[in-house]
Amino acid sequence: MTGEGERLAELGKRRGFFLQTAAAYGGVAGFYTYGPQGAALKDNLEAAWRDRYVTREGHMEISAPDVMPEAVFEASGHLETFDDMIVECSGCGASHRADHLVEDHSDSTVADAEALPIPEVETLFSEYDVTCPDCATALTDQPIEDFNLMFETNIGPGSSSPGYLRPETAQGIFVEFPQWAEYARNQLPFGVAQIGTAYRNEISPRKSLIRVREFTQAELEHFIDPEADDPPIERVEDVTVPLYSVEHQQADDGGIQELTVREAVDEGIVADPWIAFYLGLSKGWYERVGVDMDRFRYRQHLPGELSHYAADCWDAESEIDGDWIEITGFAYRGDYDLKKHADHSDEEFTVFKQYDEPITVEQPTVDPNMGYLGPEFGGKAEAIAEELAALAARDPDAFADETVTVEVDGDAYTVPVAETDFAVEDVTESGEHIMPHIVEPSFGVGRLVYTVLAHAYEEDRVDGKKRTYLSLPPEMAPTTVGVFPLMDKDGLGERASDIASDLRGTGLTVTYDDSGAIGRRYRRQDEIGTPFCVTVDYDTVEDDTVTVRERDSTDQKRLRISELPETLTALRDGNRSFVDL
Ligand code: AMP
Repeated sequence: MTGEGERLAELGKRRGFFLQTAAAYGGVAGFYTYGPQGAALKDNLEAAWRDRYVTREGHMEISAPDVMPEAVFEASGHLETFDDMIVECSGCGASHRADHLVEDHSDSTVADAEALPIPEVETLFSEYDVTCPDCATALTDQPIEDFNLMFETNIGPGSSSPGYLRPETAQGIFVEFPQWAEYARNQLPFGVAQIGTAYRNEISPRKSLIRVREFTQAELEHFIDPEADDPPIERVEDVTVPLYSVEHQQADDGGIQELTVREAVDEGIVADPWIAFYLGLSKGWYERVGVDMDRFRYRQHLPGELSHYAADCWDAESEIDGDWIEITGFAYRGDYDLKKHADHSDEEFTVFKQYDEPITVEQPTVDPNMGYLGPEFGGKAEAIAEELAALAARDPDAFADETVTVEVDGDAYTVPVAETDFAVEDVTESGEHIMPHIVEPSFGVGRLVYTVLAHAYEEDRVDGKKRTYLSLPPEMAPTTVGVFPLMDKDGLGERASDIASDLRGTGLTVTYDDSGAIGRRYRRQDEIGTPFCVTVDYDTVEDDTVTVRERDSTDQKRLRISELPETLTALRDGNRSFVDL
């Protein structure tokens, strides 16, 4: 970790944003505990996400268990394919991600090694003389293996019922799809969202909150009819998005194209309009929560990088310490997941789509004469009758001649068409069962917390002294208002304490602080990003006014106490600005 990362780790611990879990026992890699400031910031991010992707879009939000039975992940493909490549050092016993070692040793000449087959990575190990980053032992002769990232557990006593901690919250939505469809009255499109914990037994957790083993995801699964549903792209068509396409990544020119959502779709750069819609919608949301747009881009997945389920995928990435970090994956998952669960369970993962008008279709039928098939084909007669029915549905033209031939257990059987009673009937249908496709924006909340903190971190000089502050949007700040008495005497303390409790009563998050010099109290709040501080002084006693100070500018205004609740609430919600007070 360098520069920004070190600063954040230090601030995180000292001021209560996040800290290494169980440090008393030496700590445990890949687990972090959010302190009071971090937990509040994370809550605010989740509330803003819920506001944007659930409430304002009219979607449903659910909450599924963290532990799921094995059958779910057998169906989803995670048991089979949710692997990273692992290599163990024979010198010190440390485990590493083989693909990351290749990328590091080749100075990133090899990008995206994750997508390569193991034998190719083994060859690259020799080519780049890969050694252990911990003890420098040569790793060129060590076997590279697949390592499944899911945490396994047992459901109930004994080991007969294995379960897994979910590696993504999405499966909890997919397995209950028939129920959600019913709640949505079988009307596509509809969205189901979930904010919850996901667990991945990462081989080498690193970079603080960026690669951990337990993290919060905010996922939206938008179920659409691929034939009939278009996104409301007009809502975002003029939004400009910074796109880093496959073409520019392959040319390695770092070229970001600033295009409107409409241009990106028309020029085919973002192939799927639903994904384009979400890139446009989300850009405003990232700005709202404090992601610096000069350190932000949307990167398209390279062909080999696509997940086992994804047809097209773009990541939102933020820059921290010179590295680009994936903060959200926008994936077109198609019908992969619903198909898998339909194949592995007895449920129907479809919706019934009613036609505007019933339609009449021709339906080929057969009613084979068993009095003929029995004596003619003996034990095979039943199977031949079934094959005839299947063939009629599949290829009615096969019944156009005098005889028809079907195959059973590798042998061909020819039957006179007259003995099949083949006919084509007119049938009226009022609708059809269709399997929806899924568009998924999947946000990593911890990475967002980390990004927002990194991008908010500022240093300046106030009154000749260095100052550190977090320029968080007021909506995100863990504390909205700090309330201080200038001095804790002559009744100022009581007055300030009353103001703090009144403001709390209106739903604002308030800290009361009467310890130390007033300048130090401002600095403490600056460091945790508190946007407004209210100071009670001797004038307050005379005229019921207080000083309100804004964090970034350090400007101060005099306000009446009675105005505080409404004004501070409006400032927090972005309905008023400090300069206009
Ligand atoms: P994925 O399913 O891999 O596309 O992950 C979805 C989102 O979860 C990513 O965009 C990340 O923000 C987040 N994420 C994935 N893996 C981790 C991890 N090990 N630690 C923290 N966040 C993660």
